[in-house]
Amino acid sequence: MRKVIIAGNWKMYKTQAEALDFLRGFLDHLNETPDDREIVICAPFTALGTLSKNLHGSRVRVGAQNVHWEDAGAFTGEISAPMLVELGVRYVVVGHSERRQYFGDTDVTVNLRLRAAQTHGLIPILCVGETKQQRDANETEAVIIGQLDKDLRGVDQERLVIAYEPIWAIGTGDTCESEEANRIIGLIRSKLNYPDVPIQYGGSVKPGNIDEIMAQPEIDGALVGGASLIPNDFARIVNYKT
Ligand code: 13P
Repeated sequence: MRKVIIAGNWKMYKTQAEALDFLRGFLDHLNETPDDREIVICAPFTALGTLSKNLHGSRVRVGAQNVHWEDAGAFTGEISAPMLVELGVRYVVVGHSERRQYFGDTDVTVNLRLRAAQTHGLIPILCVGETKQQRDANETEAVIIGQLDKDLRGVDQERLVIAYEPIWAIGTGDTCESEEANRIIGLIRSKLNYPDVPIQYGGSVKPGNIDEIMAQPEIDGALVGGASLIPNDFARIVNYKT
């Protein structure tokens, strides 16, 4: 049985006070949430400690959005896996397209981050996906396979989540057709040596399309950006109907 994981990626949104406000509007909705799904909030570093404390004893897990590969050292502005573990963090997003695009992450550094996260018991959520230009040039499959090939070297696939996030669908309202997302996620699965890796879809997931996305047989969850910032919207997404 593959695990279903619905994760919010808050990106660079929410102060500690705003994170607490979110919880006040969100947690009550979880009374109705079926047990078959894991819920994760990937928050900015500054909100992680507060979230861990306030989610203690709840079913919501805390995730970070990046991790450095060294445990400590002269790496100004970076955060290490032991630092995240100390804050009660369980998951960490690695290789998000915004990190690859704006902050110089490459398949080499993504691979280092994945392995460091696992060394310290964090479960990485590896993001892969193609640009619009690559899709239009019929390069989608080759791009994804290339990313998996390089990113997953030496990574334990039994302690991993993958998110397929087509870059052209992120923050645009332009969702990938759910059948097409299912096809690419099936392709990703066929390249893995552990077939039960949970594979999420990400890119303009909303209350209005989550049921259809989750009805696809290969899709094991969602990585949600904008809609995860709004308590009622994220609650509707985690309470998707089957
Ligand atoms: P949106 O849901 O805002 O499109 O963002 C998706 C994303 O990048 C999640 O990591």
